[in-house]
Amino acid sequence: MPHIGQVNPLVTFWGTRGSISTPGRTTERYGGNTSCVTILYKNTHIILDAGTGIRNFGLDIRDELGRPESQQSLHLFLSHTHWDHIQGLPFFQPAYNKDAIITIYGSPYKEKFLASVLKGQMDKEYFPVSMTVFSADIRIREISEETIRFDDFTMLWQEQVHHPGGSVRYGLQINGKKIIYATDVELDRIFQGNSSNDEEKALARQYLEFVHNADLLIADGQFTEEEYSSKVGWGHTSIPLLLDVAYEAQVKQLAIFHHDPQHSDKFLDEFWMANRSRFHSTYEKMDIFWAREGLTLEI
Ligand SMILES: [Zn+2]
Ligand SMILES: [Zn+2]
Repeated sequence: MPHIGQVNPLVTFWGTRGSISTPGRTTERYGGNTSCVTILYKNTHIILDAGTGIRNFGLDIRDELGRPESQQSLHLFLSHTHWDHIQGLPFFQPAYNKDAIITIYGSPYKEKFLASVLKGQMDKEYFPVSMTVFSADIRIREISEETIRFDDFTMLWQEQVHHPGGSVRYGLQINGKKIIYATDVELDRIFQGNSSNDEEKALARQYLEFVHNADLLIADGQFTEEEYSSKVGWGHTSIPLLLDVAYEAQVKQLAIFHHDPQHSDKFLDEFWMANRSRFHSTYEKMDIFWAREGLTLEI
């Protein structure tokens, strides 16, 4: 597992599953924990979403927090507050560590305040202790600025409209590299919609510019084409459309993320085997892979 002091950013997938965690033997290869990805650069950890995968990340850095040389500030960026993106937070050990500073960022465009949503999931009807037992310094921020800068990081963000309740995509610029996290969005609505609709055209352009030339794009690819036809409006993207759009945006590496709970390892492997030669010939130069829990990439 990655540790502080790395030269290049390290991206680690702690949870790759969408919607609900899916533990068990049929998902052990690609993972059963819900959305959580971390980026480590120098002494700073960026965390993207707090699905159940964040629990293992918290255990992994437990010893690191409290060491005098370590930077104890953690930056958690939430795409949105659906269960599969926040449910690990009450089980995140650093939240109970008085030496940790955790800044939680989220969209300012919600009906409810971010802090009240996060506190709400630890209401006694749902969880045995309230958020007040967190001994870390927790700072909850609805993003107000266009660009967030700290340490060596520049974080850009955009609201994604085609997901029930909305969601945020994040673009991290770091060490000359561009890493995009854009999950929980129904790109089919933008790119396959009515092409004469100016609003959709603008959204498409905005998306392509945001992800253009990314060194790594971590993106929602929950459905096959057939599955998508019965899930229009559910807020997720079909895999073939994602591939086309990422290729058009000249993405270098594409991690297909937010796997459907029904997609077993066998299903994903068979899908891959059936399509891989077509992928290689159609999308040459773009490195495509299934996001896999436990995978660490140096960018
Ligand atoms: Zn989700
Ligand atoms: Zn969602």
